[in-house]
Amino acid sequence: MRIVMIGSGYVGLVSGACFADFGHDVVCVDKDAAKIEKLNAGGIPIFEPGLDALVAKNVAAGRLSFTTDLAGPVGEAEVVFIGVGTPTRRGDGHADLSYVHGAAREIAAAIRGFTVIVTKSTVPVGTGDEVERIIRETNPQADFAVASNPEFLREGAAIEDFKRPDRIVVGIEDERARAPMEQVYRPLYLNKSPILFTRRRTSELIKYAANAFLAMKITFINEIADLCEKVGADVQEVSRGIGLDNRIGSKFLHAGPGYGGSCFPKDTLALVKTAQDHDSPLRLIETTVAINDTRKRAMARKVIAAMGGDVRGRTVAILGLTFKPNTDDMREAPSISIIQALQDAGATIRAYDPEGIDAARPLLDEVTYATSAYDAAQGAAATVIVTEWDAFRALDLGRLRDVMAAPVLVDLRNIYVPADVEAAGLRYAGIGRASER
Ligand code: NAD
Repeated sequence: MRIVMIGSGYVGLVSGACFADFGHDVVCVDKDAAKIEKLNAGGIPIFEPGLDALVAKNVAAGRLSFTTDLAGPVGEAEVVFIGVGTPTRRGDGHADLSYVHGAAREIAAAIRGFTVIVTKSTVPVGTGDEVERIIRETNPQADFAVASNPEFLREGAAIEDFKRPDRIVVGIEDERARAPMEQVYRPLYLNKSPILFTRRRTSELIKYAANAFLAMKITFINEIADLCEKVGADVQEVSRGIGLDNRIGSKFLHAGPGYGGSCFPKDTLALVKTAQDHDSPLRLIETTVAINDTRKRAMARKVIAAMGGDVRGRTVAILGLTFKPNTDDMREAPSISIIQALQDAGATIRAYDPEGIDAARPLLDEVTYATSAYDAAQGAAATVIVTEWDAFRALDLGRLRDVMAAPVLVDLRNIYVPADVEAAGLRYAGIGRASER
């Protein structure tokens, strides 16, 4: 198949490279000339494990290329994916669809012959109808069908997720889109990933419902963790105890500093707005959003409490800045609010992240960036684990303690056993753990 991917970010680049790896001919398009220049020079503009090798292999095989020119490749394509950003619209919390609509207009002008246009971006219910309307209005002669194919990959494990998805969801209104979409994904469902065909609006809602449910699950265990601290229970064991029930499942039951990232915050908010607009409010999700919003600064208060209540003039070491490990993505990372709240209370911040420092610099003021966890901890009155990078899972705790001004470890991801930390001479504070009574 000849495929064009509009938008070469975290989703577009990974999807494009994986489609090429299936054997399709793929052109990845982006408006950002610097990104395309870097890709054409053999570089990768984001950090995603395995992506550099996958891109290099498929470029070398002649199946994957990059350009800023949308019209040429779209004219040749059988299937055109829209994988542009859909951030929160400033001011009202709805999804900003200007990039999707802009891409639709450009595609419309370039279509030659029957083409399937597929929104892979996460878009509110009804966006497919609007994309169809825009294309028809811009180019009344165009022969096309608009499908929805939301993406469920996770940054940090994106290639594996794309190649072995739990399911593929495709929403269509025009039966002519079915065969090309089956063809695009044939290598996957031969591998037994179910492909679920639905109507287009259903498909669009599946993506938001999935993300909202996961965000709610995280928020649920975070609130249970808070209760654990009050009643002397251990959230790690509660989580295991409920997660072993197959009806509940153990995933997304890790208590932490609140969800962040480029998807959950904006998608929960957009879903809440859609539901309100349709007079069918999703109160569970409204509450999830509100709880999560306040949680991040609450984590800073937890750090301050662990330091005896006063951080003015003292240094705090932050380990991990990205919203999760194995990515350089800083969008809505909990570290941003936590650091801001600690600075508001007068703390000085030394931070280290294995991949996120470049992306963090424009977002954080007056932070000193360290070259390792131990470097960050130099002279610190507390070390705070914010993101559970592997590099932080087996720290030499004695060495850490020795470089610190005061022996306090705040583990916002519960990756250490409290007794081990205490045995190394550090005071431990985690999330929802019995030892904190
Ligand atoms: P991103 O910001 O990394 O990439 C979007 C890219 O689109 C940018 O490089 C931008 O320059 C480009 N672009 C915008 N308008 C364009 C146009 N008209 N022509 C060509 N290029 C254009 O965003 P992302 O994280 O890849 O997310 C893309 C979509 O996928 C969003 O809707 C997001 O919600 C969804 N999604 C993201 C993830 C994730 O983990 N990042 C997972 C599932 C779904």
